[in-house]
Amino acid sequence: MEDTVKTTRPTGQLQLSIVVPLLDEEENLPALYEQIQRAVEGRYEYEIIFVDDGSTDGSFRILQGFHAADPRVRVIRFRRNFGQTAALSAGFARARGDLVIAMDADLQNDPADIPMLLAKLDEGYDVVSGWRKKRQDKALTRRLPSKMANWLISRITEVRLHDYGCTLKAYRREVLAETRLYGEMHRFIPALASWSGAKVAECVVNHRPRTAGRAKYGLERTVKVVLDLITIKFLGSFSTKPIYVFGGLGLFTTGLAFLFGLLVIYDKLAIGTDMSGNPLLILTAVLMITTVQFILMGLLAELLVRTYHESQNRATYVIKEVLESRDL
Ligand code: UDP
Ligand code: MG
Repeated sequence: MEDTVKTTRPTGQLQLSIVVPLLDEEENLPALYEQIQRAVEGRYEYEIIFVDDGSTDGSFRILQGFHAADPRVRVIRFRRNFGQTAALSAGFARARGDLVIAMDADLQNDPADIPMLLAKLDEGYDVVSGWRKKRQDKALTRRLPSKMANWLISRITEVRLHDYGCTLKAYRREVLAETRLYGEMHRFIPALASWSGAKVAECVVNHRPRTAGRAKYGLERTVKVVLDLITIKFLGSFSTKPIYVFGGLGLFTTGLAFLFGLLVIYDKLAIGTDMSGNPLLILTAVLMITTVQFILMGLLAELLVRTYHESQNRATYVIKEVLESRDL
């Protein structure tokens, strides 16, 4: 007799984990905690994971108070400030809920939106991303760069969302288990997840102006986001076959070198232009050197990629489930 076992990832003991990264938000924490409770109390079995990203104000003492009074509150305290992405990673790694909500601690995201995001997940999505349609931030320094960044990210990742930067998102935990986050990359989780086959949706959420504490970011974040975008695009599309990128570029430059080389010879034979005085000769030489560089870079990258995947036992694919017989 064969019995078929459906193998899926182990489930958490809990239904919902709410992950909140924070840096110096002492004025906002009490109201935030109360609003989260109001949104989820009685509806879900939940935990709240506050990640204190190196606060120097009274934030941690307040969190200690929450934890002492309520065992569903878990607190992770970083030794120093490592950034919002690192804080989210730490929270995700410890989340026990099957579903995970991430949100900012400054009350700009509205905990009252949580049930709506979870309902959307229930429709069969793996990631539901908040869209701050009426965003309450400065127009010139925040909303405009963010609009341009979102447009660019949509184009390049081919995952169409209006607002990647909104922290308020809902995830199935298994989707998070597969992503490693660096830099400012938490905003790319929907794109990374979608590339691995997850279903991604978007939901308009409430956004409120910051009333206490100060904003931690300025324009420089947009630059980091663009650089991260280039990285994830490269890793996402070509991380297993870098020679396709560099080799492709190399073939292109060889073609150009060949073309210009012929032109130099044609100039010499038909018009009589002195070859050494023809700037196209230099261009041909430069293109030939570039070709060699590209091909070698591609081969080096191939070596690196093998080391990367094999040293960490990382697969080059993502399995959703396996059906197989136990006694084989
Ligand atoms: N934050 C953090 N670490 C940092 C910077 C910010 O955990 O290094 C938290 C911050 O406390 C807030 C959230 O990340 O809960 C978003 O920060 P902020 O409101 O300054 O940025 P924005 O609303 O513009 O995204
Ligand atoms: Mg904010």
